[in-house]
Amino acid sequence: MPGYGPFLLCDFHVHTRWSDGRLTIRDVVDLYGQTGKFDVIAITDHILMKKDLLARLGRLATLGTRAFGVQAWCFDDYLDDIREEGERAMRKYGLLVIPGAEVTQNHINGKGKRNAHIIALDIKRYISADQPAVDILREIRRQDALSIACHPHHRTTRRIEISTCHLWDNRSDLSHLVDVWEAANRDDLFSVTSVKHFPYVANSDFHKAKHLYSWKTLIRAEKNWPAIRKALCDNVDVAITLFRPGAWQAA
Ligand code: ZN
Ligand code: ZN
Repeated sequence: MPGYGPFLLCDFHVHTRWSDGRLTIRDVVDLYGQTGKFDVIAITDHILMKKDLLARLGRLATLGTRAFGVQAWCFDDYLDDIREEGERAMRKYGLLVIPGAEVTQNHINGKGKRNAHIIALDIKRYISADQPAVDILREIRRQDALSIACHPHHRTTRRIEISTCHLWDNRSDLSHLVDVWEAANRDDLFSVTSVKHFPYVANSDFHKAKHLYSWKTLIRAEKNWPAIRKALCDNVDVAITLFRPGAWQAA
């Protein structure tokens, strides 16, 4: 059978209706599962700052029907949803689902230099976005979770961009706390991350179905979280691939 073996096809950055994604976790699992190609996905909905203006505008525009961020009071329900769907994903598709969150800072008004979007993989407890990035990274370590610096440099594909370069700009102070850096996010490539030889990963930043076709990570590891975590941190036998319709189908 043609395929990605012995590599695992992975996407560690997926949003659902728990924040600003279009699909439920169940629909995401079925979308990835039905390709018959994916081995690992992480659900990483936004945790927002209390005063996130963009989310406030979004809530107004959608008359309060969309959440845009996971709240502290329902974070356990969110983790329960991921676990239940994860069990179904493994039974039905052999798809491993990892619980995560993207701790998201969207300062505007000139404070943009402080913005970081940080994914915590294998998160156990809510992490507030209303604290400096260094404290978010330390809390991720305390939870024995894994941190990903999301879109750490400018994205050329976004018409309106809130820059999220804080971790990159302060890499000499912060890189020892960052486990992995996104070298690719959806259609963007961040060649700067390779300059420093940082551990890299490629993710879709999935919000809607068409984002399935985007940069992804290939990892050579057993299909369980401890092995995948080690492979990401060691960053040996890791590759990025642009997942496209018809990828690796039999001729
Ligand atoms: Zn982000
Ligand atoms: Zn994201």
